[in-house]
Amino acid sequence: MIPLKIYFLGTGTSQGIPVIGSNHSVCKSTDIKDKRLRVSVWISWGDHSFVIDCGPDFRQQMLSSNCQKVDGILFTHEHADHTAGLDDIRPFNFKQGEIPIYAHQRVIENLKKRFDYIFETKNRYPGAPSVKTIEVVNNHPFSIGDKKAIPVNVMHGDLQVFGYRIDDFAYLTDVKTVEESEIQKLKGLKVLVVNALREEPHNTHFNLQEALDFIALVQPQKTYITHISHILGFHEDVQKKLPENVFLAYDNLQITI
Ligand SMILES: [Zn+2]
Repeated sequence: MIPLKIYFLGTGTSQGIPVIGSNHSVCKSTDIKDKRLRVSVWISWGDHSFVIDCGPDFRQQMLSSNCQKVDGILFTHEHADHTAGLDDIRPFNFKQGEIPIYAHQRVIENLKKRFDYIFETKNRYPGAPSVKTIEVVNNHPFSIGDKKAIPVNVMHGDLQVFGYRIDDFAYLTDVKTVEESEIQKLKGLKVLVVNALREEPHNTHFNLQEALDFIALVQPQKTYITHISHILGFHEDVQKKLPENVFLAYDNLQITI
């Protein structure tokens, strides 16, 4: 089987690390593993290339990863740290044409409001981004390239969010609670990516202990933690405290499954 390549484009929480104007020691760290753009991954295999989410750092992420094409964007939810870079898909539109975006209908409606010019059908600005919307419905796996993406329904506080499973890889971000029926979709994973914000509890995100409890429940072979706040601590220190086969992801980390 052609290996699945996962490129961590960003592993930070909504403000990124360093936080603007912050004097926190993690924000001042010179370790490149403590620099975290807004959360996103690039998944590629063979000639296929997809990204999950398209946050405000999308342009920079496409440049630093040298991504040459995007066959589609899978959105987890509508929050700005996951969607604000949508205008920057234009260079891909100029090369490839319209780009499919996969999202919950609620997220599509939200994008239509916030990026109305992208969805304009009359008098479109000629250089505007061009997308084809594909609604994601829970329990309805869909095709991306020659693979199947399985939506995993999770809760970010009161907000529904989709994670995605592709082969034996699953990506879940902005999770606070997961129903048992959805955990069943995560059996037999080689790699799980899941969010952990910090050690202190948070209303809408797993803290580190909640993420570790979830990992123990799902039992993937390996887990990478993402959507990390500077408050979690220095990459190097936190990594030492993690159980075997659990790793803090960092920007530009690449893995093959
Ligand atoms: Zn987020």
